[in-house]
Amino acid sequence: MSNERCTYFVPGPTWVRPAILQELTRPMIGHRSAEFRELFARINADLKPLFATQQDTFVVTASGTGVMQAALENCVARRVLVTTCGAFSERWYNIAESLGYEVDRLDAGWGKAIDAAALGDHLARHHRAHYDAVTITHNETSTGVTNDVAQLAQVVREEAPDALVLVDSVSALGGIPMQFDEWNLDVCLASVQKCIGLPPGITVAAVSQNALARAKKHPYRGTYFDFIAYKERADDSSVPSTPSIPHFYALAAQLEHIMRGEGLEARFERHRKMRDATLEQTSRFAKLAGDPAHASATVTALTPVMSVEKIRSEMKQRGYTLGGGYGQWKETTFRIGHMGDMPLEDLQAMLDVLGEVARG
Ligand code: PLP
Repeated sequence: MSNERCTYFVPGPTWVRPAILQELTRPMIGHRSAEFRELFARINADLKPLFATQQDTFVVTASGTGVMQAALENCVARRVLVTTCGAFSERWYNIAESLGYEVDRLDAGWGKAIDAAALGDHLARHHRAHYDAVTITHNETSTGVTNDVAQLAQVVREEAPDALVLVDSVSALGGIPMQFDEWNLDVCLASVQKCIGLPPGITVAAVSQNALARAKKHPYRGTYFDFIAYKERADDSSVPSTPSIPHFYALAAQLEHIMRGEGLEARFERHRKMRDATLEQTSRFAKLAGDPAHASATVTALTPVMSVEKIRSEMKQRGYTLGGGYGQWKETTFRIGHMGDMPLEDLQAMLDVLGEVARG
């Protein structure tokens, strides 16, 4: 199967450019060597503008779920508020419960975005809860809905100034704007197999000084995901334990492409165009499943007038892989991932074929 052209439209892992796959085949270097330090320093210099932060950025060898757990373990002592609007925001809830925290939930319902007024109201009514943190999912991949992180974080700052803001930007970072410092966030994480356009296996994160100060107060942060250990090693351009070195090579090359090849603004614009083309070319035979006012630039969940299975299998026969529905929307929706390095022309070629399939 050729990888030269993108025929894979699943919302992660996403298509990876052949040049990036090549980077994964470089010879090994030691992670305590001067070569690794130089590689790490290059990566870190590009991660800061990607997150728009002057604070600390890390690369963790784990998938995004691992760093969601890490964020909770480092930042929460007792109580957390989880905002939910689909399967991945619910994952925060499940992890927090499994760690034994007292977890409250503000649920917007599947397909909706979190409402800032409802969040403000909840925090005002529960001011005695003393939340250590509030979790926000930047882009809910199961429903194709993007939350307004800037607005939600501001509400947390106003109503619960001591609560840290933990953001899952897994299917947004690199495809949808992120302003970590300006929005006053405390942890923001993204695994790299979505809009960053790499194979899965590592996660990038930005961590605020406030989050690090909070972590320092927790004696039982565990070992593998200890943010303080990450910080101390990062100050020396290194990591606490043996990382996936092939991914570090690929990440350095991909950040070079994102920041100085395509450019961040052009990348965001391409993602918006991919969303608009998807909505326009599917409107005749499928309804947007989530709130149109919050339609994601990176993934679209659609309810078609015909069988979801038929659409996906007929597209597969024509060489195209589309994403299935997720969780409670599994039977009724399919998803088109339009994220990462996917060329707009390849998406358009797929949408033309999808239009033919839908005509029957
Ligand atoms: N959060 C969101 C929004 C996701 O889309 C996903 C995966 O699809 C995750 C978290 C979990 O990330 P990972 O599979 O890298 O653990």
